[in-house]
Amino acid sequence: MTGALAFEQLTVGYGGEPVLHAVSFALKPGDVVALLGANGAGKTTLLRTLAGFVRPTSGRVTLDGADLARVHPENRARLGIAQVPEGRSVVAELTVDENLRLGALWRYRGRGREAAIAEIYELFEPLSRRRAADGHQLSGGERQMLALGRALLARPRVLTLDEPSLGLAPLVVAQLMGTLRDAAAQGGMTVLLAEQNVTSALSIADRGVVLDLGRLVADDAASALADDTALRHAYLGF
Ligand code: ATP
Repeated sequence: MTGALAFEQLTVGYGGEPVLHAVSFALKPGDVVALLGANGAGKTTLLRTLAGFVRPTSGRVTLDGADLARVHPENRARLGIAQVPEGRSVVAELTVDENLRLGALWRYRGRGREAAIAEIYELFEPLSRRRAADGHQLSGGERQMLALGRALLARPRVLTLDEPSLGLAPLVVAQLMGTLRDAAAQGGMTVLLAEQNVTSALSIADRGVVLDLGRLVADDAASALADDTALRHAYLGF
């Protein structure tokens, strides 16, 4: 079993002030979990702690039972933890095709690389029509697809996404979420999806966890969270 992730009593702060307070939850391999909560709840901080950019004050993060505390961010990537950060990081000066080739650099060679890139174009139809376009010429939705496509080419065990739907039209969000769900199912990846777009996140997640001011206030099946009117009103704003 690979891709089991656990946050255990995780407390993280910047300059002494805690932002996350003893947060505990776990993902089984292949789980798709929505990380929900208002602006400033601590979602990005949790993802950045998993990536190794921020150190916990106490508590720990484990991957397949192994403590990640001493694992450098670069080695976390080697272990198969990939991120699509907020802001759709693609290389603006490179074409779509060149961006994907960069993503495939580590894992594939020769024909294998061509086949893997062809699969990404199949998954993200709109991108295949924009192969020769530079990153800066893409629409927000196309950039988000490219960022996700590039992350998938690293064949991660664990994929985290920070607000992938931000600024995208509802139709594009639906398409992106559908593709993410398909990719997760095909690749058996564990996915942690931080989103303010609660409805779309819960539509593809198995489970959701809700943070409020850095505390875990709910951890339940996606359908149970979507049906919990009191919780939705209190923490999710709808
Ligand atoms: P958003 O949706 O706005 O990104 P979030 O749930 O991802 O919100 P975080 O970005 O993790 O929340 O922020 C949680 C809290 O930590 C906020 O109060 C924020 O101001 C604070 N914070 C985040 N990054 C830093 C930093 N580098 N230095 C100091 N405080 C920070």
